Amino acid sequence: MTSPFVPRHIGPDADEQAQMLKAIGYGSVDDLMEAAIPSSIRFRGELNLPAGASEEETIAELRAIADRNVVATPMIGLGYYKTHTPAVIKRNVLENPAWYTAYTPYQPEISQGRLEALLNFQTMVTDLTGMTTANASMLDEATAVAEAMTLARRASKNKSSVYAVDADTFPQTLSVLRTRAEPLGITIVLVDLDGGELPDDYFGLHLQYPGASGAIRDHAALVEAAHAKGALVTVAADLLALTLLRTPGEIGADIAAGTTQRFGVPLGFGGPHAGYLAVRAGLERSLPGRLVGVSKDADGNQAYRLALQTREQHIRREKATSNICTAQVLLAVMASMYAVYHGPAGLRRIAEHAHDRASHIAGALREAGIEVPAASFFDTVTAVVPGRAAEIVAAAAARGIELRLVDADRVSVSCDETTTAAHVEAVIESFGAGWEGVFPVAGFIGRSTEYLTHPVFNTHHSETSMLRYLRRLSDRDYALDRGMIPLGSCTMKLNATTEMEAVTWPEFANIHPFAPKTQTEGYEHLVAQLEAWLAEITGYDAVSVQPNAGSQGELAGLLAIRGYHRSRGEAHRDVCLIPSSAHGTNAASAVMAGMRVVVVACDADGNVDLADLDAKIEKHRDALSAIMVTYPSTHGVYETGIADLCAKVHEAGGQVYVDGANLNALVGYARPGKFGADVSHLNLHKTFCIPHGGGGPGVGPVAVGAHLADFLPGDPVLQGDHHAVSAAAHGSAGILPISWAYIRMMGPDGLTAATATAVLAANYVAARLREHYPVLYAGEHGLVAHECILDLRPITKATGVSVDDVAKRLIDYGFHAPTMSFPVAGTLMVEPTESEDLAELDRFIAAMIAIKSEIDKVAAGEWPAGDNPLANAPHTASSVTVDEWTHPYSRSVAGFPEGVDRTAKYWPPVRRIDGAYGDRNLVCSCPSPEAFED
Ligand SMILES: *Cc1c(COP(=O)(O)O)cnc(C)c1O
Repeated sequence: MTSPFVPRHIGPDADEQAQMLKAIGYGSVDDLMEAAIPSSIRFRGELNLPAGASEEETIAELRAIADRNVVATPMIGLGYYKTHTPAVIKRNVLENPAWYTAYTPYQPEISQGRLEALLNFQTMVTDLTGMTTANASMLDEATAVAEAMTLARRASKNKSSVYAVDADTFPQTLSVLRTRAEPLGITIVLVDLDGGELPDDYFGLHLQYPGASGAIRDHAALVEAAHAKGALVTVAADLLALTLLRTPGEIGADIAAGTTQRFGVPLGFGGPHAGYLAVRAGLERSLPGRLVGVSKDADGNQAYRLALQTREQHIRREKATSNICTAQVLLAVMASMYAVYHGPAGLRRIAEHAHDRASHIAGALREAGIEVPAASFFDTVTAVVPGRAAEIVAAAAARGIELRLVDADRVSVSCDETTTAAHVEAVIESFGAGWEGVFPVAGFIGRSTEYLTHPVFNTHHSETSMLRYLRRLSDRDYALDRGMIPLGSCTMKLNATTEMEAVTWPEFANIHPFAPKTQTEGYEHLVAQLEAWLAEITGYDAVSVQPNAGSQGELAGLLAIRGYHRSRGEAHRDVCLIPSSAHGTNAASAVMAGMRVVVVACDADGNVDLADLDAKIEKHRDALSAIMVTYPSTHGVYETGIADLCAKVHEAGGQVYVDGANLNALVGYARPGKFGADVSHLNLHKTFCIPHGGGGPGVGPVAVGAHLADFLPGDPVLQGDHHAVSAAAHGSAGILPISWAYIRMMGPDGLTAATATAVLAANYVAARLREHYPVLYAGEHGLVAHECILDLRPITKATGVSVDDVAKRLIDYGFHAPTMSFPVAGTLMVEPTESEDLAELDRFIAAMIAIKSEIDKVAAGEWPAGDNPLANAPHTASSVTVDEWTHPYSRSVAGFPEGVDRTAKYWPPVRRIDGAYGDRNLVCSCPSPEAFED
């Protein structure tokens, strides 16, 4: 029996589907899918998954799984700390669809709220680290540190291949650094900062501050020594500690990196959390990731948008600074709001609390004659207890507290804002020491600079003010809770509330990634089940959910291919073929995996040009490592040549990587692992309902055939020899319940029906719009897959109306634009998904048709090219109510075009934003309030 959830997830009901089928000329969904999907790849069985459960049953099952996790008091540290998520932030950001269902702010006019929150994040990071420019988040601390390493290499004057790394670095960071260094030919040399020596030559130096042991060292002389070599210095710094300590900026560091988890973001068994990356002046143009900047709109008002996008992978491809695409926006918003809510004094109090507790523990242990070697520490104390470490950790565990077992002779304990006097007492008792007494608070070199002086961090300290600030920002944005976001390649489908429910349960939220296995049975069960279901859906043999974005899944998959060739004595295979239409991350990931990118042409129909493929294979036969193709293609077409393509590459000894971002067109109908591919990554934040969060979090599982299973990522702490791509074994484990719940509720028939409905919806939109806009590319029988490309180029050529004008005009009609100029410049790619019902699809179609008639008026000369509703879009409430209206079209045409509900109008807060101006005048932290005056 079909789960009652299925018709909640799938928008069009049976009658609506019948109408849609009629419009495209098919009698049934089965007939449509039979025609759309090439029979050579068609899967005709039923997925071996449990039958779909109801929402209530699913929550009950998740409850039972959650109950198998043990919520203890983690004092393990290593970059992960318990924190109080302020309830006002938890409910109004983390649990609020206005924030979590938003897309990456590529359309800045409808994203001013989250852009402001991200600018606050960047300001918070630059202020606390003492650096000049911070980006809008990284995937976690370990990957941020790895990006810092490659940034240092690009910018360093020293051409050595040695990267010197502080031996007191977090173990998971070291593991990811090793993964990233090896394919690039970088040698990691560990340096013991207590008496060891720096290598003779190195391009960069990595320091952990405070160290993993808790020790605070004076790094000033090391920074000077490194600079004398022309090397760059990265400091991986604890942001909370920086409210008290001298900053990386003050000692002249070039890069600061780390995590913002302890700023109110739940542990979640390792993620998702926002990493951060900040640089000194002069390095901002080499900074990877997304950067929010200040610019101005058409009326000259201050407005925010993403800056310097020309550095990013979607433009620069194999020459990009990094492959990072989806980041951790939702978590960055939470962390920034934590700083907004507590303000500088509040953060300092929280830091002092953690430090006081740690000082008390150190004092009591020393009093009892236990050695605590660090002269100076912040929140973490390492004690030397020869031979007794395991026994002390067990004694603490018996009291509900998890300590870090460093080795047989050392234990460390980390304090945080949640550490109480009772915890301190229990910890000290576990060491067999007495806890009563007054112990002096330990000192260190404090910071001499102010921070978070901007009014935003000094205003919203009452809950009323905070609540209204959050509401004000989210009201500026357009997210899925307002209407359709038809973004091709991004699959903005329903993120059901039931799927979200378990994320904030303490049994999932409050688990430390390095908690003992006995406390994480529920998580292990959930991960294993989800990985098995994803293997079944994709037809592969093994899956790892470790990669915390699609880009990281790509890297993990390519590293698996690399490991496989090496294991067979074919280390020389390093060419990765990538079609010209590929997503920018593909090429950037290939470079990170140490491969050479060779581009394969596409033919006039948008398919991989098989003749060019033959030529490239011939040319690189002996060096061929892999081909990376997206299926269905980035053009939204089921290419019939895919099986042929796989065979050709295999015949030449290469592996086939299928980018699975478009899996929403395949689930239940075709399985890449069975139609010839060796490895894929999936995007759980696309096909499997994890909300986009305004630009992250994401999960990018990597799925492989049996021959590649040994080369999947390993546990970053326990299996250092298996490359790890994230800091935590299961990556962003905290959001896996979302995808688990989706699959559990849909069941095999529901998932299959979702795919068919997505394909039906895309073909319906294509059929209805075809006479108004040419639809680029189609497969057999003139059908598209789950998305369609509307070609604006002839219109632009004839009328001057650009793809940008149409995208911005859609805002006036109450829509988020489709994907612009990807994969083809000058086009719009529409992906309606299965979740939009017919009324919403028709509203979109009507808006596009109305816009076409506006374009016709421009073409006919009725409206001048430079002054018409398209060129001036979007219109703000303020711009349509000016006292003197001078345009050749009416105010109501401007603000309430055809079909717009006057009682539910979305008004963008700013007019069209000048991106180039902002790039020329780069400002990436909060402008002073005076800057907003006219
Ligand atoms: C979204 C996407 C990616 C990258 O995924 P991220 O999670 O943003 O890193 C890669 N390839 C394709 C085709 C995509 O659509």
